[in-house]
Amino acid sequence: LLSLEGCKWIDITPLVNSRIAVFPGDTNFKETFHLQFEKGHNLSLSSIETTMHLGAHTDAPSHYHSQGLSIDKRDLSLYLGLCQVITIPTRKKSRIEISDIKTKILAPRVLFRTLSFPDPYQWTNDFMALSTDLIQWLAEQNVRLVGLDTPSVDISDDKELRSHQLIHKLDMAILEGVVLTHVKDGLYDLISLPLNIEGAEATPVRAILLELPKNQDLMQGQ
Ligand SMILES: [Zn+2]
Repeated sequence: LLSLEGCKWIDITPLVNSRIAVFPGDTNFKETFHLQFEKGHNLSLSSIETTMHLGAHTDAPSHYHSQGLSIDKRDLSLYLGLCQVITIPTRKKSRIEISDIKTKILAPRVLFRTLSFPDPYQWTNDFMALSTDLIQWLAEQNVRLVGLDTPSVDISDDKELRSHQLIHKLDMAILEGVVLTHVKDGLYDLISLPLNIEGAEATPVRAILLELPKNQDLMQGQ
């Protein structure tokens, strides 16, 4: 019998509020209350204005390619299932290379813990990203989703978006902006479902890692 009941999970989603950092020039998160109990209304009712690239989020291929699919057209299984967390030594404003990976790739989803974007409420330009060699190498090992604890798979001033482009070519999925400070390396089940918004080029996600009952045993195989 398989059930999530009683399962231990780790939330890897930063709290969203008006202070959360977005890419310079992008639309900040703004929540507006139209009805409020404090003002004598019978309901609390609100709306938001925001970039879709908000905190923990997934980019749709339509964000980085003119022929790319929007998020509602993507296979949800990309965002659901076995996932490996790998810590990378923090090296500001550089790309993670294959030589940084000291462990076997054991899952079709990989999240890199770089700690190079330490505060989700404070924008910094020197966060780490992914190298195209690394993406190619991961794809050859059947990795379908790649993610990290920084705002982008490309470094902040890369206008060519080389990693985004290769990810499109290889039909992989992206998860950006997760918080991994409190997460140990190892295997988990990832749940990071995008919102089902027609035509969206990205959406925020609530990303969690479920602890596998036998994480230890699985990791001993390395
Ligand atoms: Zn993004």
